[in-house]
Amino acid sequence: MSNIVFFCIPAHGHTNPTLGVVRELVSRGHQVWYYSYHMMREKIESAGAVFVSCDEYDMEQKLSPKDAARVGKDLAFSTKILVDTTLALDDKVCADMEQLQPDCIVADSMAVWGKAAALKLGIPFVSSTTTFAFNEHSAKIMKQGVGELFKMLLSMPRITRQIKRLQNKGYPVKSILDILQNDNDTHTVVYTSPAFQPCSETFSDKYAFVGPSIRLAVDKIEKTKGRLIYISMGTVNNDMMPLYKNCIDALAGTEYQVIMSVGDLVSVEAFGALPENISIFSHVDQIAVLQQADVFVSHCGMNSVNESLYFGVPLVMLPQTTEQSGVAERVSQLGAGIKLRKADAPSIANAINIIFTESSYAQNAATVAEGFRKCSGAKGAADKILQVCDSER
Ligand code: UDP
Repeated sequence: MSNIVFFCIPAHGHTNPTLGVVRELVSRGHQVWYYSYHMMREKIESAGAVFVSCDEYDMEQKLSPKDAARVGKDLAFSTKILVDTTLALDDKVCADMEQLQPDCIVADSMAVWGKAAALKLGIPFVSSTTTFAFNEHSAKIMKQGVGELFKMLLSMPRITRQIKRLQNKGYPVKSILDILQNDNDTHTVVYTSPAFQPCSETFSDKYAFVGPSIRLAVDKIEKTKGRLIYISMGTVNNDMMPLYKNCIDALAGTEYQVIMSVGDLVSVEAFGALPENISIFSHVDQIAVLQQADVFVSHCGMNSVNESLYFGVPLVMLPQTTEQSGVAERVSQLGAGIKLRKADAPSIANAINIIFTESSYAQNAATVAEGFRKCSGAKGAADKILQVCDSER
């Protein structure tokens, strides 16, 4: 039996794909500890892991709303938060690992404290990557603007200061890339297929492209019209009332059934009386909806796109971040969706119309789905983790 420790950030999109892997490991008789946050406790425990709370050490949750908005946009500030969290967890994680003696640490690529602890304590490590794997080739799809590169250069001295703080606490990191990026020697599980991952042939055999880990649907969605349009901007930056209103304007009174998931930040009541063909919820069973949907209007979070394509559903894409733009770019390259420049009602209606009239979008989505279904899935991810546990014994 192996002892395996997972680390993740408090985001459903990063946690969900790991749950099937935890279930698989536990069902094979291994012990899994999962360092995460209260909001994820229930799903982690029901997957069979021992939940360990990091809530009191999470520096991002302690930020003012103004500073929280800088995370992800200001690289030096984001690095500081990651380093603050790593150092806040330092005593606890080092003491816990001393006691647990794990055979392997599996950390989400954003939960840098997991990778940092593995480096510091010499514990075998597997990166869990819910986005595309990143190297100089695949980075080209995440086209960074000149402005962003310039900002990054300017922030380098502040980042170096943060790296020094880690080094002073015994973390053997030379640059921010040591913790933020995986090289070809890092064992890495990537939750997509080799065909969907850009430039997958440029990664070493330490990378396992296991395909999306799709949970089972719980609800049953009734399809009331010939075509079903699903709209969601994910679970994080979904406070987008103007966009939701544009979707209603584009689709009210059409022959399509529309299901829209708007999150907790806007109130469902705020929409008032809805057209007969449109239903709005704060949360839906997205897997159940996608099993019936004909098009997905999405922000292009990696999980949403993986789930959509797994069921062969083409996308109308409204990416909000650089990462989501990269995912949308890849879907466009493969001809499985349309990326919108403008999110006004006519653009949304037009893109949906094109997807319904040109069959290539659905066909290309079906081709990606076929590639996904050939992947090794949660079983393959568990095999990879156990190989790493065994190889380092
Ligand atoms: N999700 C869901 N119901 C909803 C909205 C989202 O189950 O109403 C799930 C979705 O299936 C996906 C995750 O939340 O697994 C969203 O992850 P993604 O990476 O797409 O976006 P994020 O929320 O991280 O921006």
